[in-house]
Amino acid sequence: MLKLIFATNNKNKIKEIKHLIGNSIELLNLEDIGCLEEIPETADTIKGNAIQKAEYIYKKYGYDCFADDTGLEIEALNGEPGVYSARYAGEQKNPEDNMNKVLEKLKEKSNRKAQFKTVIALIIDGKLTCFEGIVKGEITREKSGSEGFGYDPIFKPKGYDSTYSEMNLEVKNTMSHRAVSTKKLIQFLKIVK
Ligand code: IMP
Repeated sequence: MLKLIFATNNKNKIKEIKHLIGNSIELLNLEDIGCLEEIPETADTIKGNAIQKAEYIYKKYGYDCFADDTGLEIEALNGEPGVYSARYAGEQKNPEDNMNKVLEKLKEKSNRKAQFKTVIALIIDGKLTCFEGIVKGEITREKSGSEGFGYDPIFKPKGYDSTYSEMNLEVKNTMSHRAVSTKKLIQFLKIVK
């Protein structure tokens, strides 16, 4: 069975990806391989950060691995918070603070269009491949829902009446930005296995 390290300790991301991948791959996380340090994320694009995280693990630990990086891109804010999504309201990386900042900045704006973008960077035998997932939608006027994490309570995907946070994992997992990129990863792994 293919063994892959998912370069994250984010329990929500692990849950979402395990749900999609099932038991077909032995999936380990950073804790499992004893990587307890914070991995640098200093690139200026989402893709760059995903690659940086995967390369860090591959070079330091030598395992086949993948990393994901996600950003929320808001049209009326010229693509902000984008690559700065995690620390938009400061280094404390607090989701409530981040959402409040977005809602405040959009207070007077009628254009609420936004998109979530995930890039997964996979390294197998030293070879890098990237997979992108984008979901378009809009920023709501207030937070709603209790599921999920991060910006989920203020993002309503196009074609749905609820925010990510009002959906259960089964539904978010059929169509989210992470689901789209993960499905591409799974498809690719079927080919290389
Ligand atoms: P990173 O990919 O862990 O660097 O996440 C960047 C930022 O986007 C963090 O603030 C996360 O909480 C947020 N984020 C990542 N994935 C999701 C998601 O699926 N829903 C909502 N917010 C997310």
